[in-house]
Amino acid sequence: MDKQEHVKCLIIGSGPAGYTAAIYAARADMKPVMVAGLQPGGQLTITTEVENYPGYPKGIQGPEMMEDFRKQAERFGTDIRWSYVSSVDFSKAPYKVVVDEKTTILADSVIIATGASAKWLGLPSEERLNGFGVSACAVCDGYFFRTQDVAIVGGGDTAAEEASYLAKLCKKVYMLVRKDELRASKAMQNRVFNTPNIELIYNAETKEILGEKAVEGVKIYNTKTKEEKVLSVTGFFVAIGHQPNTDIFKGMLDMDEQGYLKTIPGSSRTNIQGVFACGDAQDKIYRQAVTAAGSGCMAALDAERYLSAQGLH
Ligand code: NDP
Repeated sequence: MDKQEHVKCLIIGSGPAGYTAAIYAARADMKPVMVAGLQPGGQLTITTEVENYPGYPKGIQGPEMMEDFRKQAERFGTDIRWSYVSSVDFSKAPYKVVVDEKTTILADSVIIATGASAKWLGLPSEERLNGFGVSACAVCDGYFFRTQDVAIVGGGDTAAEEASYLAKLCKKVYMLVRKDELRASKAMQNRVFNTPNIELIYNAETKEILGEKAVEGVKIYNTKTKEEKVLSVTGFFVAIGHQPNTDIFKGMLDMDEQGYLKTIPGSSRTNIQGVFACGDAQDKIYRQAVTAAGSGCMAALDAERYLSAQGLH
């Protein structure tokens, strides 16, 4: 039997966008309920030092920062549920949101802050060895490979940052870049170039990750010279970008071809009135904690105006 609860404002996701929306919604007395999702705190919980978030002059660890966000949201009465949203029905208001595949919540307004997740190469060997030497989070798993040789694929800021992180723990880090240049910012590139135990391999395509029960090596192909070679590594890290966590909204909300939710410019409004989107789920350009937080604030203000206009708040 469905157990139904009716809330004014339901927030899906608990990264900087979700928590900021919660702080604003709670202070506006919208009595927000937040469904925190499978990775409470979001991507910042798998990062280390955050040095560019205003208000932390000495920097802060990502997980600690998200704890601060959580405490601030709870201080004003946000009701946080440590569960996940399994499906939604936005065909009519109040909107139906199913939590943990069993509990239905009816919501007058919904704020989507589901963020984004790491992308994978899509190789069968990558899937088979995931958790056995293959990882998409150097900060989470790098420790297991200290004093060993590892490879990381990607040429963006994430790959550069994670390669530098791994270089502190590992003996050698091969950075596999598919083009003949890095996409990472100049500052991050310089950090990589100045780290002696990072070896950049350009024009590298990963053919296969080798090993039966754990990673033993990686077979790479040089797209210029057409040469194949095997690197002996015990860890293989993937850092090739992210995809938005928006699958459960497919067919219901407008999104672009990559799945990023479309919002009406200058607002957090989606194509369904009363449903708002913020953070990385709708932003493929900036993707920063501070921009996510800013858009979370917008979503709460938009939701408050919507509820007032509907006579629901
Ligand atoms: P990006 O999209 O910027 O970079 C992805 C990288 O992975 C590119 O080098 C891309 O290659 C490569 N790539 C993509 N698909 C494949 C594939 N199938 N095989 C091999 N390589 C592949 O993602 P990031 O996660 O690095 O960064 C996302 C955003 O977050 C950026 O705006 C970035 O600046 C920001 N960021 C900022 C940080 C900071 O300031 N400290 C830290 C981390 C991220 P190609 O270049 O050939 O397309």
